[in-house]
Amino acid sequence: MPEVETDYLVVGAGATGMAFVDTLVAESDVDVVMIDRRHRPGGHWLDAYPFVRLHQPSAYYGVNSRVLGNDRVDDSGPNAGFYERSTAAEICDYYNRVLQEHLLASGRVRFFPMSDYRGTDAGGHHFVSRLTGTETTVTARRKLVDATYVESSIPSRHTPMFEIDPGVHVIPPNTLVDLDEPATGFTIIGAGKTAMDTCNWLLDAGVDPDLICWIRPRDGWFFNRAFMQPLDLVASYMQLQARWVESAAACDDATDFVHRLEADGAMIRIDPKVEPGVFRGATLSLLELGALRRIENVVRLGRVRRIETNLILFDDTSLATDAQQIYVDCTAEGLRPVSPRPVFETDRITPQYVTIGIAPWSAATIAAVEASDQDDARKNELCPTVAFTGETPSLLTIARAGMVGLMARSAEPELREWTERCRLNPARGAESHLDDPKVQEAFTSLAANIGPSMQNLERILA
Ligand SMILES: Cc1cc2nc3c(=O)[nH]c(=O)nc-3n(C[C@H](O)[C@H](O)[C@H](O)COP(=O)(O)OP(=O)(O)OC[C@H]3O[C@@H](n4cnc5c(N)ncnc54)[C@H](O)[C@@H]3O)c2cc1C
Repeated sequence: MPEVETDYLVVGAGATGMAFVDTLVAESDVDVVMIDRRHRPGGHWLDAYPFVRLHQPSAYYGVNSRVLGNDRVDDSGPNAGFYERSTAAEICDYYNRVLQEHLLASGRVRFFPMSDYRGTDAGGHHFVSRLTGTETTVTARRKLVDATYVESSIPSRHTPMFEIDPGVHVIPPNTLVDLDEPATGFTIIGAGKTAMDTCNWLLDAGVDPDLICWIRPRDGWFFNRAFMQPLDLVASYMQLQARWVESAAACDDATDFVHRLEADGAMIRIDPKVEPGVFRGATLSLLELGALRRIENVVRLGRVRRIETNLILFDDTSLATDAQQIYVDCTAEGLRPVSPRPVFETDRITPQYVTIGIAPWSAATIAAVEASDQDDARKNELCPTVAFTGETPSLLTIARAGMVGLMARSAEPELREWTERCRLNPARGAESHLDDPKVQEAFTSLAANIGPSMQNLERILA
């Protein structure tokens, strides 16, 4: 049985594992073994639907050591005026290059693809090749890093939670591009980012909005993409920070919090008449929002339980349909709720969100903290988990954890300096834009409201 020795065994080479390893090897001189059950790095992006793009700018996605894309502002198309957003193919190519040209080339990282982690015992950690069945034992001198804990749930690898009668045409968004016959209509099932991408793709491809039925059990809150812009447009992101903290200082509850952000234009919802119950940190532009509002056949009858040839069954009711409909299953959760656990434990690191909704920045931050000379208790103080439940009320716990972590890390000069130069930090470089009145205003507002916002959140959450 092959045996391998290393400092860190990292399980999972998705965005989380890659950002973690990239920063860890940059900030220390350790040796790392990475494994993934997929055939190359990139995680869920390798199986994503073909029309997916990042919902945030590429400028702060990926790993710290290498730019993703060209940091270009698009001058035409649906993303005009905003920083470019990579496709899944671009992201996968990027991660492959990071692995080949940077991590493996460093001589301090080894990668075992097609390898399933099987757990640990007194002999060490074990993984098994999915191709040969060979079991390898790993001795991790320092820690196991479980970079699978916030693993995404995606349509192509997800089994719908509803029953499907024979002959009913239910597909993941991935196979929409393979259809060779027109449908009588498209029924989109799901309320999240995937459903929105699918509706927008169908509309862009010329499908009449009246041919789209959108089953949306619950509506969601989304960040307005105009407020998520970095680099030369960082004033927008700083405005979001300022409005976020002001709302946290003044709100009575999570609904009030998000309504204040909506009034500022920072948060948006598709139907202003419906109170959303869901928040998963997704981003939408006003142009996309306008397109989605053209779909009027929105079904809010709860969760689908079964689809028959001519009938969709919900918990308490049913809806007539026709045999030629194409149903697109967009019910995979994407960002799954997970039970938070300490990021740093004796033999283990469990990367989770420690920033609001940005997986690579969170993972790189955790690696930078790991590379610092502190004990696990202090490291956990620097990295409180920002736990997404998917529910709107979690906005306040997310807001509090995000601020506590940010303030703790800012108080450590070396971490503060690392954060300021980290390309995964959307606020990077804001201090060099102080000549912009919007950036100045944001800093003044943040200084005035950070204390009151913490007090108010403590009061409400108590
Ligand atoms: C469509 C979509 C768009 C998104 N857009 C954004 C965005 O714009 N910005 C953003 O910040 N986030 C976005 N997200 C959130 C997303 O979750 C993160 O960006 C990120 O890609 C998640 O990476 P991950 O490494 O945590 O998980 P994954 O990409 O799921 O990677 C986990 C890896 O672990 C491996 N693995 C799991 N179990 C084992 C095992 N036992 N043994 C070996 N390997 C194992 C898997 O094969 C996989 O490669 C998006 C998510 C989706 C689904």
